[in-house]
Amino acid sequence: MYIDFEDISEHGDAIDVCIIGAGAAGIAMAVTLAERGHRVLLCEGGDADYSERSQDSYRGETVCDAYIPLYGARLRYLGGSTNHWGGVCRPLDRYDFTAKSASSETAWPIARDAISPYYSTAASILDLAPLPADQPIAGSGFKRIYFSLGNPTRLKEKYAATLSESAT
Ligand SMILES: Cc1cc2nc3c(=O)[nH]c(=O)nc-3n(C[C@H](O)[C@H](O)[C@H](O)COP(=O)(O)OP(=O)(O)OC[C@H]3O[C@@H](n4cnc5c(N)ncnc54)[C@H](O)[C@@H]3O)c2cc1C
Repeated sequence: MYIDFEDISEHGDAIDVCIIGAGAAGIAMAVTLAERGHRVLLCEGGDADYSERSQDSYRGETVCDAYIPLYGARLRYLGGSTNHWGGVCRPLDRYDFTAKSASSETAWPIARDAISPYYSTAASILDLAPLPADQPIAGSGFKRIYFSLGNPTRLKEKYAATLSESAT
């Protein structure tokens, strides 16, 4: 169910997990934990739909590498940036987790194997079909890799009924 925090006047029931932010990560975690029987409170700072009042919180300065201005790069309402993401997906490579020449601090604190068990759940949430395996290109040292380029799943729309009709 949806509860507007501005309408809350007394404490509710106990919950098992509180998640802050109902974007890609928050909604994915909330629905997965709820499916496993946990009582989840998912707190979204923005409104149910886009509003200038909420989006104004994302005004800020981007430093270092050039990127989309902060105000437009993230969306601050239910569904978060999945409301405008492109849907391009591919599992991370082992290389992605290793330190790059710029700094040893670029290494991830976990290895790829730590997240591998969760890819199938993520693929289901994002409606991704299985990708072909990478194919080495003979004699080149390169490999052909594949990306999902389907319709970008809008988590707000996909899980609207799940979120609003949940008992807790
Ligand atoms: C134009 C664009 C295209 C993209 N295309 C791709 C793509 O093709 N493939 C890809 O993999 N990624 C893509 N991305 C990146 C992808 O959208 C993000 O990596 C992803 O949405 C991040 O998920 P998140 O849950 O961390 O954050 P978000 O999805 O941004 O969710 C954060 C949530 O937290 C809420 N929130 C913020 N502050 C608070 C607060 N104080 N209290 C409570 N709630 C709060 C926000 O309102 C929002 O709902 C794209 C991004 C952009 C901008």
